[in-house]
Amino acid sequence: MKFKFLLSFVCLFIFLTSSKQIAQQPKKSKLVVGIVIDQMRYDYLTRFADRYGKDGFNRILKGGFSLENAHYNYIPTYTAVGHTSIYTGTTPSEHGIISNNWYDKFLKKSIYCVDDTNYKTVGNNGLNGKKSPKRLYTSTITDQLHLAQNMHGKTIGISIKDRSAILPAGHTANAAYWYDGDNYNTWITSTFYMKDLPKWVKDFNLDNKADEYLNKPWETLYDIKSYTNSRDDDNIYEGKLVGQKSPTFPKNLKSLRSKNGNFSLIKTIPAGNTFTADFAKAAIIGEKLGKSEYTDFLAVSFSSTDYIGHKYGVSAIETEDTYLRLDKDLADFFKFLDQQVGKENYTLFLTADHAAVHAPSYLQSLKIPAHYLNLQKFREFVLKITKKYFNSIELIENVSNYQIFLDKEKVESLGLDVNTVAQKLADEVVYFDEIYKAVTARTLQTTQFSTGILNSLQNGYNQKLSGDVLMIPNPATLIRERTGTSHGSGYSYDTHVPVIFYGNGINQGATSKRYNITDIAPTIANFLNIEAPNGTNGVVIDEVLEK
Ligand code: ZN
Ligand code: ZN
Repeated sequence: MKFKFLLSFVCLFIFLTSSKQIAQQPKKSKLVVGIVIDQMRYDYLTRFADRYGKDGFNRILKGGFSLENAHYNYIPTYTAVGHTSIYTGTTPSEHGIISNNWYDKFLKKSIYCVDDTNYKTVGNNGLNGKKSPKRLYTSTITDQLHLAQNMHGKTIGISIKDRSAILPAGHTANAAYWYDGDNYNTWITSTFYMKDLPKWVKDFNLDNKADEYLNKPWETLYDIKSYTNSRDDDNIYEGKLVGQKSPTFPKNLKSLRSKNGNFSLIKTIPAGNTFTADFAKAAIIGEKLGKSEYTDFLAVSFSSTDYIGHKYGVSAIETEDTYLRLDKDLADFFKFLDQQVGKENYTLFLTADHAAVHAPSYLQSLKIPAHYLNLQKFREFVLKITKKYFNSIELIENVSNYQIFLDKEKVESLGLDVNTVAQKLADEVVYFDEIYKAVTARTLQTTQFSTGILNSLQNGYNQKLSGDVLMIPNPATLIRERTGTSHGSGYSYDTHVPVIFYGNGINQGATSKRYNITDIAPTIANFLNIEAPNGTNGVVIDEVLEK
């Protein structure tokens, strides 16, 4: 009797605990949506907060979980590297995408991250589809989802930029689509993925939405006087479209497009983001994403924010207007997901691939230290060092991405030691005004930097691919013209970006604890109950997930 009572008590206990576990486990999402906003600084969330509606950024900020102090933890903070790190959960030291373009020391020429001449364009007869993710060494979260589901479920990457579609979608993607431009008004892909475009892409291309967007002038969404979060419209720190007399509104796109790359002009206006969202919606319908028993993954990247940021800078009315319009595009996209996939059936994250610095010329006007590095002069300076100490100007093979590649054969043929030459260069290049730190590859191979900017440099250093001397410029240094801005450094203005999780399985809340961008992929993997990408070194952010 006593035993029976104990047994039923144990059974009841097991039932209660297991039913509790079942109740706590969020249901499987039918669709994961990764959204990357190219060049979005964290402070674009706060600076324009009172100008955003309730259904865009504010909807996911309120209903989801925001990492308020999330950073990139490597150098350089460029588009290809950022997208890859988000989706692989690791840094260039492991994933091998060390920049957008870099000097390939094996091929002895500069290469572009996703170029691959083994493939052809699908969608038009141009050359811009000869791409693949072959230079990416590790797996992506999208690959892992495919592996976990025995290749069931669809994974698709979409962006105006090829690299921002291809790298997130991974090696096993069903498709990656990007927009061609110039005289080609077509979303294209590569024979790496398929032989022919699906009907929904062909239909979308025939629809000719781009002309519709390019025939309207770009005027501010609201009265231009209300843009008090930005500088005056006409100022010397902003770039202009070719054919414009001043960098001001309105921008008559119809008359400017022939001088600004015809269809490529859409990449550099807010409508480029709307156009991307249009295509993402067509993909969700056309591919029936979120409708099967498997989990699908859509990786969408909005690139126009980056082109606009480069041209006009951080505090331009153009930039503010772009984010106010993007907020509306996002509101509309979230509503579409609710209707098409169902509120309870999708999980999303939104982040950026890097941020950006205030135009150094503007910072200089405010007496904040900021610089422009003249690459030609710097290369001459490097040659002077090798001439002075080693009596040769033939020891340098390439200088790019703040790295020096030595001609090792030449160095050895002169009876010199590669490490000695590299160390001398590292010691001497800091005498160039804009160079702040320099270390040799050997130092990065033999010393572990656990914090600070040298840790970021080390995370961006790939022994197989990187150069022999790696340099860090002063804060707020750019190599470019004096208008507009750029990114690429390990300083906080480039590393601090929004990370917001939202939807099924996600807690409501926010944290100001410091996290790395590489924590996104393992967190999503944990939520999906799948293995994280194979090079992941990020952590699972427990507080984000309902458990
Ligand atoms: Zn970018
Ligand atoms: Zn950029």
